[in-house]
Amino acid sequence: MNTDTKCVQGGWTPHKGEPRQLPVYQSTTFKYDTSEEMGKLFDLEAEGYFYTRLQNPTNDSVAEKICQLEGGVAAMLTSSGQAANFFAVFNICEAGDHFIASSSIYGGTFNLFGVTMKKMGIECTFVDQTLPEEELAKYFKPNTKLVFGETITNPTVSVLDIEKFAHLAHSHSVPLIVDNTFATPVNCRPFEFGADIVTHSTTKYMDGHAVSVGGCIVDSGNFDWMKYADKYPGLTTPDDSYHGITYAERFGKGAYITKATAQLMRDLGSIQSPQNAFYLNIGLESLHLRMKKHCENALAVAKYLKANPKVAWVNYPDLEGDENYELAKKYLPNGSSGVLAFGIKGGREESIKFMDSLKLAAIVTHVADAKTCLLHPASHTHRQMTDEQLLKAGVAPDLIRLSVGIEDAEDIIADLQQAFDKI
Ligand SMILES: *Cc1c(COP(=O)(O)O)cnc(C)c1O
Repeated sequence: MNTDTKCVQGGWTPHKGEPRQLPVYQSTTFKYDTSEEMGKLFDLEAEGYFYTRLQNPTNDSVAEKICQLEGGVAAMLTSSGQAANFFAVFNICEAGDHFIASSSIYGGTFNLFGVTMKKMGIECTFVDQTLPEEELAKYFKPNTKLVFGETITNPTVSVLDIEKFAHLAHSHSVPLIVDNTFATPVNCRPFEFGADIVTHSTTKYMDGHAVSVGGCIVDSGNFDWMKYADKYPGLTTPDDSYHGITYAERFGKGAYITKATAQLMRDLGSIQSPQNAFYLNIGLESLHLRMKKHCENALAVAKYLKANPKVAWVNYPDLEGDENYELAKKYLPNGSSGVLAFGIKGGREESIKFMDSLKLAAIVTHVADAKTCLLHPASHTHRQMTDEQLLKAGVAPDLIRLSVGIEDAEDIIADLQQAFDKI
């Protein structure tokens, strides 16, 4: 199946007499006939559902669709994108470990890695993702366990050189995790460029309608944990909490997701509700159509902003001459996303007047859904960051993040124009 078909039909394949649309298995628990059958499930000796805190059939169908879209071997849904990124890292790092992440990542992930995980004894070094590989190599330590980046960074819309990062990670015998939220597998499949694990905030384009918060982790199955057994004891030595199962031996390419489900989901319980997974699936059915329209509209808006004398600067990877244009051509040939960043001449004061004058575009703490919206990170999402941290993350104090929706491009531009007329 090609991508468009996977969006519509991947995951749920009904048999005779079963519902055409994926049903919501709104049940916390599942019935078995004998206690032996149930016992085998708990020993991971048999496959099956027993409690929705760990797994649910609706969720698994949707995870399977996303897995097919990314070209992975196993996937799981989580309650949010934050949970997905936390699980993705915590599944391989423990207290005393270190990892490397791009400093341009989403503010929420930056805080999770830099503050909360630090309290758990896991240290993250943030790096400038535009540095050459030799420079980036200097940040590795003996206890470095992984490298992390975003295909398109939120909110600065920089494109990650995935091949450079994959080469960097693999030459130090660690996996590369890529948060592919903005690009979605419709526009980029990081596994094709060497990423080992992909994460998503499904809250964004995948849901697409600002309906439900969710996340997803997909494993390519390509990283050989056993080859570096000393580094990854959680996957390569017996798990006492599962009767001594060694995940990498028992589950092969499925080891990483099995461990994250059996251990992390069991203990931390950040499962997506089946109802939200059902909404997510409906969103995914039109993802391929929406991404195309988002990109078309965003390019039209980016060109309009670029030509506007009141605009100081515009970042949009698909715009010819943009500093990310070459990377976008390589990794995102069908378009990047509907998100762009720009600054208004006159700074903070003019920006606020401009934003308050908009009618069709709304100021909301969201991005990447059908309706055009915008946000000023310095006063909203990133307000916990110091000016120094903001600049280090490449977030200019005047940066406005515009998420271009799938309305008519002329109407979006007319709304921006009437707001510009007021400043
Ligand atoms: C929104 C976002 C997240 C966090 O996802 P939630 O679903 O809000 O928890 C993580 N990464 C990126 C790139 C995001 O845009």
